[in-house]
Amino acid sequence: MIVVMSPASTKQQLDHVVKMVEEMGLTTHLIYGTNRTVIAAVGDKRMVDKGAIENAPGVEKIVPILSPFKVASREVKQENTAIALQPGGASIGGKALGIVAGPCSVEDRDTLLEVADAVKAAGGVGLRGGAFKPRTSPYSFQGLAEKGLQYLAEARERTGLAVVTEVLSVTHVDLVARYADVLQVGARNMQNFMLLKAVGEQEKPVLLKRGMSATLEEFLLAAEYVINAGNPNVILCERGIRTFEEYCRNTLTLTIVPAIKRVSHLPVMVDPTHGTGHAYLVEPMCLAAVAAGADGLLIEVHPDPEHALTDAAQQIDIPQFQQVMKRLARIAEAVDRQL
Ligand code: PEP
Ligand code: MN
Repeated sequence: MIVVMSPASTKQQLDHVVKMVEEMGLTTHLIYGTNRTVIAAVGDKRMVDKGAIENAPGVEKIVPILSPFKVASREVKQENTAIALQPGGASIGGKALGIVAGPCSVEDRDTLLEVADAVKAAGGVGLRGGAFKPRTSPYSFQGLAEKGLQYLAEARERTGLAVVTEVLSVTHVDLVARYADVLQVGARNMQNFMLLKAVGEQEKPVLLKRGMSATLEEFLLAAEYVINAGNPNVILCERGIRTFEEYCRNTLTLTIVPAIKRVSHLPVMVDPTHGTGHAYLVEPMCLAAVAAGADGLLIEVHPDPEHALTDAAQQIDIPQFQQVMKRLARIAEAVDRQL
């Protein structure tokens, strides 16, 4: 349920209601809107005395949350949420689009720094790159692990770009959070509930990718796990789903962008790279995603895609990335966004 505080309520009244609701066994999340503060109270409602809450000073009304996801829903917060990738840095979810780009995997220091410089120069706000890679085959390149994280941190020092990198396991959350600005939870882990809770218990923002067979509701419920564990900063990322279609690696469902925005206040990014699996499809899908309302893009860029250690077929090269950024600026303007 949502406890709506009246615009004139005081901080003491808010604290009192929060305490009261928590004593009834519910978890509270404070949402500060432009006019008023609301308390989203989630959990087992059997012990809740609604009358007592309604009568507490400063409370305007109680409204049930009808959607299955609660704290992520628009019922709780009407305004869009913007999430800063670094404290005081660029955000995803405001008027400005957030472009995060970089190689599929961190392969070596020089390649990473070359891409980082190009991403920064073209107007990107974040650098992606996997140090821990979820590979289908155990014989494929698994990533450079901590060494890769160190290269990413060095690239951040040099360019100021926010580092977005995947965390594969609960046991790596502390390690990855020490180096990264944003923790990525990959498609294969979207319903790894222990991992969702673990990234929810630390403070860095989380980029949550849609599972390859997940419905919109499952996707938002996964985000809800992270928020419920204490971290409200969840950026959703559509990356395509498995269908019977074979000409592309995944089917990029751009319809989910406005569909999520209708029911949730969380920012939505699109990954046109994994969403298609082919470099030639990346640019048109970048443009289409922004036209559809995406708040940002996650793009794989490699100086020499042909020789990339992972995902060679789908990474675009640096000149292609520069061209995408130029064309995106025009689409952004057409949909009242900035690049
Ligand atoms: C990635 O972005 O590095 C990745 C592995 O993507 P996904 O989890 O969407 O497959
Ligand atoms: Mn990849």
